[in-house]
Amino acid sequence: MNDLTHVAPGIWLVDTHQFGVPHQGGVYLIPGKPAALVESGTSLSRTRILQALASLDLDPADVAWIFVTHVHLDHAGGAGALLEDLPAARVVVHERGVRHLADPTRLVASVKEAVQDRFPLYGDAVPIPPERLHPAQDGERFRLGKFSVQAVDSPGHAPHHLCFFEQATGSLFSGDAAGLYLGGKLLPSTVPPSFELEAALATLDKLIGLQPRLILFTHFGPGEPTLLTTYKELLREWVDLVRRVRDQGASEEEVVETVLQEATRRGWTSTGPAKADLRMSVRGVLGYLARRAGQA
Ligand SMILES: [Zn+2]
Repeated sequence: MNDLTHVAPGIWLVDTHQFGVPHQGGVYLIPGKPAALVESGTSLSRTRILQALASLDLDPADVAWIFVTHVHLDHAGGAGALLEDLPAARVVVHERGVRHLADPTRLVASVKEAVQDRFPLYGDAVPIPPERLHPAQDGERFRLGKFSVQAVDSPGHAPHHLCFFEQATGSLFSGDAAGLYLGGKLLPSTVPPSFELEAALATLDKLIGLQPRLILFTHFGPGEPTLLTTYKELLREWVDLVRRVRDQGASEEEVVETVLQEATRRGWTSTGPAKADLRMSVRGVLGYLARRAGQA
């Protein structure tokens, strides 16, 4: 199956064809007894994930954990539906994200508002019963045969973001904490409603301190650990750019357009669905700047 790639010893990447295209969104699979998934993708990822399990001869009943980096629908939206196929699995999520997975009503409403006519691409989210949710603490470890997966509190992209660090292979599942890595290009992931620059930079220092040997991006695939440092620089430049354009007094719509033009000039651009994400990321920085101004 072409949508399944071996990315590190014993770790596989399933291309979920997020937003209907390849190489945009992934779910990682750690086979074994017990087995685990990192991310669930949207509810539209379900068939591809089950196909991947089948092609690795994995019994769905052996999946003990679905580690989700945060509750945004492209990462955890499909977890509830997937639990119907994985009878023994529980969903590991940041303690601040638990209530959104137990009752996704508000989460779904906020995504609808943010993405509007693109909403059908995000699938649907069904509530997860509390006994199948595992709120994770920073530093908590999960044993999976020869693997040991550690939850790493990593706010910035969202306050309820966790990365997962697998020690045997030095693999860091970065979720959206290290940005998007699409087609060999690093792009900002600073979407509304709760991006915080300072928290994101502190998180990147913490991730660098883990000395990972491999970064496994949800969007999309493996990358070098030096990308963590590159992303710190990119985040600062990106927020500076949005701030400067905003300070010229343009309307929000104009700010978005001007920033996107400048981003294209600097090579921070991507074709396909990531372009709409970049638009949202400008709005996420504007929200962050407004909140900061409100606090001052
Ligand atoms: Zn994402």
